[in-house]
Amino acid sequence: MVAEVLVAGAGGFIGGALAERLHAAGHTVRCVDRKPVEDWYQHLEDADNRVLDLQGIEACREAVDGVSTVYNLAADMGGMGFIEANKALCMLSVLTSTHMLVAARDAGVARFFYSSSACVYAADKQTDTNVTALKESDAYPAMAEDGYGWEKLFTERMCRHFKEDFGLETRVARFHNVYGPLGTYAGGREKAPAALSRKIAEAVLSGHHEIEIWGDGEQTRSFMYIDDCIDGTLMITEAPYGDPINLGSSELVSINEMVSLIEEIAGITVKRNYKFDAPQGVRGRNSDNTAILDRFGWEPSTPLRTGLEATYHWIFDKVSSGAPVKV
Ligand code: NAD
Repeated sequence: MVAEVLVAGAGGFIGGALAERLHAAGHTVRCVDRKPVEDWYQHLEDADNRVLDLQGIEACREAVDGVSTVYNLAADMGGMGFIEANKALCMLSVLTSTHMLVAARDAGVARFFYSSSACVYAADKQTDTNVTALKESDAYPAMAEDGYGWEKLFTERMCRHFKEDFGLETRVARFHNVYGPLGTYAGGREKAPAALSRKIAEAVLSGHHEIEIWGDGEQTRSFMYIDDCIDGTLMITEAPYGDPINLGSSELVSINEMVSLIEEIAGITVKRNYKFDAPQGVRGRNSDNTAILDRFGWEPSTPLRTGLEATYHWIFDKVSSGAPVKV
């Protein structure tokens, strides 16, 4: 099937939402993931759906064949629990990142989007809950999140050099904690908003109003709703700028504050059992949105409460229906 756009990692949370949006806008979309199609979070019947492991160059060549725009979102990733325990696996995404760039260059792809992460930022700038938001230059001198963050930073640089040396028009966004319905909520790769929503949904359903929280709950983050992530991704891909740019919300919350929001949405309060030796990541992190506001006059703005309502209700329905967990 002829397709104009490739979404690599389309079986995942963000890739699925991106493919759906591109398809709704009238694009012919090729969706590629290594998971069997029945395990994808979203599945477009009339897209060119292919199951390929993009760590191999030949699979990448098949994936990019004939398309003009590539969105590479394929990566091994998860929440802190996953990335702290799977550093080698996360770094092996460099095979996918590298081979996708080489295949895109060789096929004459017009534009290549890469999903980087706030995990590229230097650890010594994220030691306090009372954060100074991270601006793009704070990635250097480099001290990225061990494993996952270093692969992201390395691939960002490859994108830059493929643009400078080979003329491939690369675009890079640093996503900050994306959440929403149709994503991972159980199984070990889920991130905080989904994990906490699932725990509170389970508390509602079991009547046992107690949850475990990793750390003291005072660690701070910002969380971007999936719709904002897709809007920003499309905007950044189409823009004439190539350098990495933050794509994140600037609404800072502590984990404890997020639990309180989900409690309000669920209509219960829970006893909070803090697990101090669990993975927590950096102490505080927020997105400085000066650059995206300057360039686009736009920033992700869905209020956390609004996004959590949609997320919690979707997860509650999944948990209460006993649906098999997709990871
Ligand atoms: P996800 O795990 O839901 O989706 C990633 C998809 O890539 C999965 O379906 C996986 O099967 C696929 N994949 C991995 N390796 C592959 C390979 N070799 N060949 C083919 N498919 C492969 O993750 P997501 O949350 O949708 O994240 C998408 C991208 O955004 C990733 O690059 C991730 O690092 C980045 N990102 C996400 C967040 C977030 O909060 N979700 C934050 C920062 C960056």
